[in-house]
Amino acid sequence: MTCTPGMNPATAGPTSILFGVTMLDLPAIPFDNSYARDLEGFYIPWGGTKAPAPEVLRLNTALASELGLEAAALTTPASAAMLSGGLAPKGAAPLAMAYAGHQFGGFSPQLGDGRALLLGEVIDRAGRRRDIHLKGSGRTPFSRGGDGKAVLGPVLREYLFGEAMHALKIPTTRALAATLTGEAVMRQNGPEPGAVLARVASSHLRVGTFQFFAARGDVDKVRRLADYAIGRHFPDIADHPDRYLELFRRVRDLQAALVAQWALVGFVHGVMNTDNTAISGETIDYGPCAFMDAHDPKTVFSSIDQFGRYAYGNQPPIMQWNLTRFAETLIDLVDPEDSEEAIRRLTIEVNAFPAQYQREWLTGMRAKLGLVKDLPGDLDLANDLLAAAEAQGTDHTRLFRALAVFVRGNVAPVRALFSDPARFDAWADRFVRRMAEEETGDLGRAEAMDRVNPIYIPRNHLVDEALKAAVVGDMEPFDRLIRVLALPFTPQQGAERYAEPAPADFGRFVTYCGT
Ligand code: AMP
Ligand code: MG
Repeated sequence: MTCTPGMNPATAGPTSILFGVTMLDLPAIPFDNSYARDLEGFYIPWGGTKAPAPEVLRLNTALASELGLEAAALTTPASAAMLSGGLAPKGAAPLAMAYAGHQFGGFSPQLGDGRALLLGEVIDRAGRRRDIHLKGSGRTPFSRGGDGKAVLGPVLREYLFGEAMHALKIPTTRALAATLTGEAVMRQNGPEPGAVLARVASSHLRVGTFQFFAARGDVDKVRRLADYAIGRHFPDIADHPDRYLELFRRVRDLQAALVAQWALVGFVHGVMNTDNTAISGETIDYGPCAFMDAHDPKTVFSSIDQFGRYAYGNQPPIMQWNLTRFAETLIDLVDPEDSEEAIRRLTIEVNAFPAQYQREWLTGMRAKLGLVKDLPGDLDLANDLLAAAEAQGTDHTRLFRALAVFVRGNVAPVRALFSDPARFDAWADRFVRRMAEEETGDLGRAEAMDRVNPIYIPRNHLVDEALKAAVVGDMEPFDRLIRVLALPFTPQQGAERYAEPAPADFGRFVTYCGT
């Protein structure tokens, strides 16, 4: 099973008409396309489909400025044509990347950019290389049966979640723009507004990119890809005698940190396929993701995840599984002469994942609890709090803010989150004793907790409401939500309802990769 709906629908409306803008009307973007330059044979140069009436619906002005691009110049008709894929700017080298991937455990040797293009790379103001990539820009040689398109709801969903994650300080790809194409695209429930997401990432290298070439036995290409990845993301290990093993370690540690951060905020990615596992350690692909309300490791939102493979509590072992697939692609690089020895060494590194994950998670949990010292009972203390929350349907996000209120001296709000507060009281006695092991004052501790525990997360009912309105032309709820989520740790006046869990009648929330 894959997460690729929209694989066969016909497109309603005109597919291509000419419009009177040219490359000369576009802002000058100083592209520097290392992927196109260094990795010939890893992609297919390709152009996007001209949209009939492109219009930039939302532009991320803060991100544009980070990239050194002038926001006003990105909303013109010519820029709308560019951001929907129909007009390639000077210096761009648009291409469809080849990649493979394990989807829900089954291997697809050829996925690739079936409805996306890498437009090019720019060096941002901080000197970092960033990809500008278009999702929904039309069919490519990798489209298989798909229509190559994306629709507005999922495009805005990805925009919103990327911004929310960024504000939560979690590594993520981000949206630069959401552009309407002006055509209706057929999806399961009828026609929907077509749209293209311009996505910025520190790269689009995936575990699946390595798998594509490894599956074809092309060791030379895997090595070139690994060298490129090292040069781009980990230049300090370029001269390391064991650089491929070191590459694996780096990716493992970034992913351990990432998945731990997801866990700490209650994020369920929903489609942790190896083609959605980035070498950079950024969160990528916001198709069916969601944040959980009540703490429960079994939480699953995706309609197609029938067996809970990608459930909240399963994310760490799944990441280890994905990294094992990555390790397999590196065997011939780690020891070209002796694959047994390479496997032995890589296995040690793969097996180190759970401990690394736990270190990251516990460091984060200590911060959430306002603790500084690393003491032996901390893991049990954290786990026991979450076990109580799980047993009593306690809201994950509200729990930690209410704990800070408790640290300030008022126990009522946190007790109110437990159906049987006695269980919380028993835990709280231990917490109070543990706090006494440190010098931090209550106020300082509570403030430190508030700096890492969000008040506002993209709650499902709010996201749902914002996207439903956007699809019928009302962007107000979306804009409002994105503004609130930009400051997740700061109480905002009038934003009280954004901190509340879904009302009881909202029911069980299901996400679709209806992209
Ligand atoms: P995703 O579910 O977005 O991670 O996509 C998985 C794979 O399916 C990638 O190779 C995508 O390019 C491809 N894909 C998803 N939707 C479409 C579509 N509408 N048209 C063509 N390819 C698609
Ligand atoms: Mg994907």
